[in-house]
Amino acid sequence: MKKLMAANWKMYKTAGEARTTAASLAALTADSLPDDREVVLFPQFTALSPVADALRHAAGYSVGGQDVYPAAEGAYTGEISPGMLMDCGCARVLTGHSERRHIIGESDELVGAKTAFSINAGLKVVLCIGETIEEREAGRLGEVLERQLATGLAGVKGDAVPDAIAVAYEPVWAIGTGKVAGPPEIVEAHALVRQLLVARYGQPGNAVRILYGGSVKPENAREIIALDNVDGVLVGGASLQADSFSRIILA
Ligand code: PGA
Repeated sequence: MKKLMAANWKMYKTAGEARTTAASLAALTADSLPDDREVVLFPQFTALSPVADALRHAAGYSVGGQDVYPAAEGAYTGEISPGMLMDCGCARVLTGHSERRHIIGESDELVGAKTAFSINAGLKVVLCIGETIEEREAGRLGEVLERQLATGLAGVKGDAVPDAIAVAYEPVWAIGTGKVAGPPEIVEAHALVRQLLVARYGQPGNAVRILYGGSVKPENAREIIALDNVDGVLVGGASLQADSFSRIILA
């Protein structure tokens, strides 16, 4: 299974800046990208087309949207459809990122609707899940991951798995804080996610990629990627500079 190395650029970079970073990244890694690695960049909506254009000839690279609305079109001011993302060159989309859950207030049900609708429309989805520090300290890790997976995947049928879906485990307390979950915490959570995926989908659940996200840096990427059931990483802060993200991609 190829490792999926994902960059979440959040609300950073103008279209021009994103294009330049994407082009530098491709130049830094194009010849050295191992066969068992795949890269996806999630820039802002306004930068999707320029980034897709910059990566046109970069083998192993794809582009994705950071969010989507579960409708083909309609009176949904400010929203974007799967078809519009694909029209800008997207192959993937993120759903359920903790910043959308906790800052914007997205419900588990809306995350599930976005996930199922996007897959049916032809996008591959990276579904993000993860517990807050309060939930972890209250011993609720298992319950939270189980609920977010069950609701997030509610409309995703077995035949779409494993190709169309990847799960990113991102403990909320490790995102943008510099606090990385330690190897035992990552291994425990990823094993639990794997178990839940297999319980839900049977054997194909073993082939769903599970990414880790939360303060991944060039210095810790190699160790994290080597852990059991870690099939890639989702990187925020350290993905913004081509030099730093290229070191993570090749770690
Ligand atoms: P971070 O963000 O790498 O800056 O912690 C990860 C994410 O939010 O996906």
